Amino acid sequence: MSASRDYYEVLGVPRNASEEEIKRAFRRLAFKYHPDHNNEPGAEEKFKEINEAYEVLSDARKRANYDRYGRATTLDWAGFDEFNFGGLGDIFDAFFGAATTAQQRAPRKGNDLKANLTISFEEAVFGADKQIELWRIEACTLCHGLGSRPGTNPEKCPNCNGRGEVRRVQQGIFGRFTYATTCPRCHGEGSVITNPCPQCKGTGREKVKRTLTVTIPPGVDESYHLHLPNQGDVGEYGGSPGDVQIVLSIKPHHLFTRKGYDIVYELPINFAQAALGDSITVPTLDGDAILKIPAGTQNGTVFRIKGKGVPHLNKRGRGDQVVIVKVVTPRSMTARQRQLFEELAKVLPTPEVPREKASGSTSGAGY
Ligand SMILES: [Zn+2]
Ligand SMILES: [Zn+2]
Repeated sequence: MSASRDYYEVLGVPRNASEEEIKRAFRRLAFKYHPDHNNEPGAEEKFKEINEAYEVLSDARKRANYDRYGRATTLDWAGFDEFNFGGLGDIFDAFFGAATTAQQRAPRKGNDLKANLTISFEEAVFGADKQIELWRIEACTLCHGLGSRPGTNPEKCPNCNGRGEVRRVQQGIFGRFTYATTCPRCHGEGSVITNPCPQCKGTGREKVKRTLTVTIPPGVDESYHLHLPNQGDVGEYGGSPGDVQIVLSIKPHHLFTRKGYDIVYELPINFAQAALGDSITVPTLDGDAILKIPAGTQNGTVFRIKGKGVPHLNKRGRGDQVVIVKVVTPRSMTARQRQLFEELAKVLPTPEVPREKASGSTSGAGY
């Protein structure tokens, strides 16, 4: 390297100089030592040194690195001296050109897509394969994402000559100053499509409707995070496709509700069944089951039919079907029923009315 001087010293600015101060100092010095009009010995070296300092200090990340670690780690442009020093244009190509050309564009993952999927209560319990339809962006099938009519190729952008950026010349008080900016014609790609693909109009992408199969595992609920990796929009610059995120809705069942892995079922019984006991056929998701109700069953008693609940998600075992007994009082009766209830009323003991124990019955004894 031509010099090992401190970059701030080279530009003659304090270490806390603002971007604007750095830029001003660079313009002034670059003009002064420009080899086109400075023939003094060492001017060319000096000019390179100024450019090198500016290259680092004008880039916030490189400047921070330099401030922290010094020069060594910032010398990632080895070969500067071998570089053919042909004039201001080449210097600027070297400093500003490389970073934004098409080849160095970072791969970008495609967008994630969201899809809503409504499934039945039973499908959530036992699992299912479901289809969803969605629109996604894919690489054009005709041009394979290249954007050019098959058989033709993109051409070097005539505006920037393939660099992806253009140099602008600005007239300042110290003379002409050149800076680089992204080419407006090719948006930094370095190439333009002169013969666009008829299918995608040159974008290389098209929106397609796809039907995807979603496998619902047994035991899911609405909080279950279901996603299809790499089924979203196509990526850019070699990036992977996005994912499809699925938002599950589960339709309510007309008989059953869920409480975790248990299925809750409400069973209406009459006074006689509650008092005498009964053997009742109740529905479960696996078909009918017999539930024995003992004599003297109270309203609200809970019975469990083992293993007839929801399968545990991703592991063995199932919850239960929880049967909640609801003793139903008749709202209307036939004459015969009424007569029997009246008979019963005569022999049934009336339950005692619960009330607070009368206080003072013993304390009053002292009087
Ligand atoms: Zn195409
Ligand atoms: Zn261009």
